[in-house]
Amino acid sequence: MSRLRPDLVAMEGYHSAQVSVEVRLNTNESPLALPSAYLEDLSRALKTLNLNRYPDRSALELRSAIAAMEGVAAEQVYAANGSNEVIENLLLAYGGRGRRALVFEPSYALHAHLARTTATELISVERRQDLSLDSALVSQAVRDHQPDVIFLCSPNNPTGEALPGEVIEAALSSGDGLVVVDEAYVQFANSSASLMLGTPGSDRLVLLRTFSKTWALAGVRLGFCIASPGIVADLEIVTLPYHLSALTQVAGLLALGYLDDMEQRIALIVAERERITSSLASRGYTVWPSQANFILFRPSDGKGHELWERLVAHSVLVRDCSSWPRLEGCLRVTVGTPEENDKFLNALEEA
Ligand code: PMP
Repeated sequence: MSRLRPDLVAMEGYHSAQVSVEVRLNTNESPLALPSAYLEDLSRALKTLNLNRYPDRSALELRSAIAAMEGVAAEQVYAANGSNEVIENLLLAYGGRGRRALVFEPSYALHAHLARTTATELISVERRQDLSLDSALVSQAVRDHQPDVIFLCSPNNPTGEALPGEVIEAALSSGDGLVVVDEAYVQFANSSASLMLGTPGSDRLVLLRTFSKTWALAGVRLGFCIASPGIVADLEIVTLPYHLSALTQVAGLLALGYLDDMEQRIALIVAERERITSSLASRGYTVWPSQANFILFRPSDGKGHELWERLVAHSVLVRDCSSWPRLEGCLRVTVGTPEENDKFLNALEEA
């Protein structure tokens, strides 16, 4: 007899295929590493750490540096081990039994997954037929369900659509729940909900960010949110003591000194994204215009899974979304280096 909580029995852990291939374009990381000067800074800094002691529990130096970059106060920044941990802690603080979280599917699977693991009631609302989201749909869903936590994702994973301010405004003004805008890919986009910080009602707005994409630090596991000081204080209640290691704190802090390199990486990825998008469209595929570092597409014959297998045979791994609800026949490709993208496009041609 399973001892697992009955509400978890039908669930699976989060996973993405880990196949050994030459070109990995399946998990939306940065294909480019941080510069060697950063690695030298980091190794120097590691020698000065007192690893026999617990780290700064409030991660104040890191949070202050992030706050300075974002133009907010340190009390408005909360950092954790990847933005996934921030999502989990938001749900521990504001979700749980008797509380409701609203998601608009298809979107980043962890919002729904963590709602379930924290025993938060999950309300899933469909996007429009073309997978887009607009204020009318969001207002209606918020009014109908009065959720405690609303997840919006901009740009949305896996469709790549960035949300205009009016959609976030609609989520804020149609109810009194927390509005979490997951901006993991925002630096690749033309708009950000950060423009709404400080506007009326924005004390319920939470912007989620990560070091895993543009900052090229997926291996470090560091993410943060920008929110009102009251929300940051609430999050501290559910945070484990010393949750953010001294290694993580220093790795993030030093990366912030390499903002220019980060911006160059973004420019390259955005240019490559446009190149891949036109190439996929010229093959007659359905392509969702993306504001992120990945592109969702459906081959013209609708046989995404077969194409995925043939790409793997050519040593190229993309994300197989073809069996996901609402994404029948679709694949998602992460933008890689120009060489990796060439290999992907050549493999497509041959496959
Ligand atoms: N949000 C979105 C929309 C994502 O796609 C991802 C990564 N797949 C995350 C959050 C998680 O990022 P992190 O590595 O910071 O936990």
